[in-house]
Amino acid sequence: METLARTIAPDVIERTIEVRRAIHRHPELGFEEERTAALVESELDAIGVEHRRVAKTGVVGVIRGGKPGHVAGLRADMDALPVTERSGEPFASEVPGKMHACGHDAHTAMLLGAARELMRSREDFQGTAVLLFQPAEEGPGGALPMIEAGVMENPKIEAVAMLHVDNRIDVGSVGITPGPVNAAADEFHLTITGMGGHGAAPHRALDTIPCAAATVLALQNIAAREVDPLASIVVTVGTINGGYRNNIIADSVKMTGTFRTQDPAIRDGLEARARRIAENVAAAYGCKSQLEVFYGYPPVVNDVALTEAFAEEMRRHEGIKVERPAATMGGEDFAYFAQRAPGVLVRLGIRNEAAGIVHSGHSPQFRIDERALPLGIATLVAFARSVGAGRILEG
Ligand SMILES: [Zn+2]
Ligand SMILES: [Zn+2]
Repeated sequence: METLARTIAPDVIERTIEVRRAIHRHPELGFEEERTAALVESELDAIGVEHRRVAKTGVVGVIRGGKPGHVAGLRADMDALPVTERSGEPFASEVPGKMHACGHDAHTAMLLGAARELMRSREDFQGTAVLLFQPAEEGPGGALPMIEAGVMENPKIEAVAMLHVDNRIDVGSVGITPGPVNAAADEFHLTITGMGGHGAAPHRALDTIPCAAATVLALQNIAAREVDPLASIVVTVGTINGGYRNNIIADSVKMTGTFRTQDPAIRDGLEARARRIAENVAAAYGCKSQLEVFYGYPPVVNDVALTEAFAEEMRRHEGIKVERPAATMGGEDFAYFAQRAPGVLVRLGIRNEAAGIVHSGHSPQFRIDERALPLGIATLVAFARSVGAGRILEG
């Protein structure tokens, strides 16, 4: 094991695994994390960390070190997914149709482990750590309600970090990448209206089917012709519905789809681009087009200075592999915390091919190599200590 993880006390590691498995057995969906929040509270009580409830099932704990310093936020999400588990783990979900298939059980347990470790060395800990146990990451989103409840203030968080387990990275490694590390995931609904009629008399109707086909193709021009080829963008039409029967001209077609972007500037302009294309293609066919966009989480953008400095800090520890994995096009509401304070999303390797631990998050077969947990705890502790001491903060 690498030296940093070896600094974590064996009883802390043992308790982290127990807590992770207990949470794993009883997965709870967004804003229903009553049992999980109660467990978090009793664990914090056991080690003497002051805490409060926010955003229904969110819990905030504050650890003030023995020496004054800066304030670090550490965030863990707590919610599970509506998936029926088929991992084969002895501690698999006992709730049919619900599973910790994204590793949030491990995130919560590791943050509690970090709290234990920081409390153990509290006298020497310079600064303050705010522990953010967040509900509903998988939707509808617990980060914003927590922020609205004031968790970033009093004490004011100066830098914030989170871990996410990652099946692409081998156990023993962490992934720290500056800049955008995942995507905004926005949903759109597009309705094309024309005029129905007899399939044998298209000249007396306004046919929405060819208009819809042209619109789907034209929307691809945003990615192909309008946006820098080095930037990441996806425009996917996922559903298309319209029409009645083979010999009837369809008077309307409805489509739904997703926009994925990493660059906030590209995201901001996307709705207007899509509307311009949809309306003008529709006009060319004599139809009308109406676009509605439902905005999801913004992209997580790792603060470049903080992230580079923290990666450097982690590299100083012998035996740790600090990788720089590519961004993904998934969503993550940690983005809201990282909009308000410099933030870093750290990916924690959990892959172990020899043990068959290869399945991606959200899969019913998702598993974690628990040997990753000590390194995860150590990473959170290292972040709190280096922010607290002012080592990796700018200015
Ligand atoms: Zn997830
Ligand atoms: Zn997740």
